[in-house]
Amino acid sequence: MLALISSTIANSIRRPGIPLMLALVLAVPAWAAAVAFVDEYKSGIPWPEPKVIDPGPIGGPPSDATVLFDGTSLDAWNGAENWLVADGACGPHGKGGLTTKDSFGDVQLHIEFATPAEVKGAGQGRGNSGVYFLGKYEVQVLDSYDNQTYFDGQCGSVYKQKPPLVNACRKPGEWQTYDILFTAPRFDDQGQLLKPAAVTVLHNGVVLHNHFELLGDTAYDRPPAYTPHPPTGPIHLQDHGDRVRFRNIWVRPIVEPELPQK
Ligand code: MG
Repeated sequence: MLALISSTIANSIRRPGIPLMLALVLAVPAWAAAVAFVDEYKSGIPWPEPKVIDPGPIGGPPSDATVLFDGTSLDAWNGAENWLVADGACGPHGKGGLTTKDSFGDVQLHIEFATPAEVKGAGQGRGNSGVYFLGKYEVQVLDSYDNQTYFDGQCGSVYKQKPPLVNACRKPGEWQTYDILFTAPRFDDQGQLLKPAAVTVLHNGVVLHNHFELLGDTAYDRPPAYTPHPPTGPIHLQDHGDRVRFRNIWVRPIVEPELPQK
């Protein structure tokens, strides 16, 4: 537009046949629009004010979190009858996993775990559990302290897809933290994948995955694959037969703000 205006003005000077009025008719609205654009930019994008929350103690839960386990109650879960609650922690004992009653999509999850202090077994048979998002996508829990296994199956791996960037495991029996950001995959109405799932994992405060885009679900016996599903689903804690313990479990949906419509 500016180039057109400039050339029109230049032509009107060089060629008096083109009326100067035409250049002015074009220039005035363009100038007004440019001024309005700059004014709007200077006043800033009209973001809604971020909600004020209480972040709570170190390790949370923040005031807007959904607490899934506070050390006493497993009311938020199906399968609780198969888990033991003692000393502010809960854990499986070979009778089945835990699955949230509620469904979640894009979330921040905090969970603390401890693999058994008494070391038994090796490889995948040592302190094995797992955190599943939408019931399908597993971040591995394993005792990987001085315990070799396949790298995309060690503690903190996206199971059978991606090893952790580092091995940040504490010793068996010590409490450890996972802080996980999970973005659910999106499918269109025909079931075609629009956007893959993605995960960011901090283990004991150390980054293991930085927005890794999953290749599909995390089966142990076949390659990962996507099958269409709703954008939310349950969080699941695996019972792999080992006495892994969990505590301080909370989750926050990640909701992007909506800009006001013009
Ligand atoms: Mg597992």
